[in-house]
Amino acid sequence: MEHLSRKKIKKLLDEIFSHYIRIKEADEHGNSRCWTCGKSAHYSKQYCGHFASRRWLATRWDERNCRTQCYACNVLRFGEQWKFGNRLDKQCGGIAERIMQKAENKRTWSTRELCHLVNHYRAALEKEIPRLQSTDNSITERTFAVLGRVRKFQNGLTSNNTKRAV
Ligand SMILES: [Zn+2]
Repeated sequence: MEHLSRKKIKKLLDEIFSHYIRIKEADEHGNSRCWTCGKSAHYSKQYCGHFASRRWLATRWDERNCRTQCYACNVLRFGEQWKFGNRLDKQCGGIAERIMQKAENKRTWSTRELCHLVNHYRAALEKEIPRLQSTDNSITERTFAVLGRVRKFQNGLTSNNTKRAV
């Protein structure tokens, strides 16, 4: 586990980030509303939508760029970018353009930076969990499985560093 390729680290980061975004926006029962059509569903059925496409690495893990979306908006209607951006702008004028500018600036991430983000979103997600768990057990096994994989990965990194230090 400690020798995850960059591709796998990115995948792990995508997963933990997606769970964080959907859970952060969820109520205490785990329901979160689609940003572009308002449909409410349990976070496990929703998607982490990106205003600027996921293929832009500069904004792929930028919280300002991401909101919960339903399957229809995220997949069938390709993310509803126009509605997505309009609503972002209503919340914070000019943000859509600033995100697009950031997105188009090429950004490369070092492995260290990616690991830092994994760590950051793991901690952020763990902070959100008690809010939902205390009302009903609305956090899914899948979320716990992702957290488990992240912990295993981080433990691998730590023991690797220890080995190197000796
Ligand atoms: Zn929707």
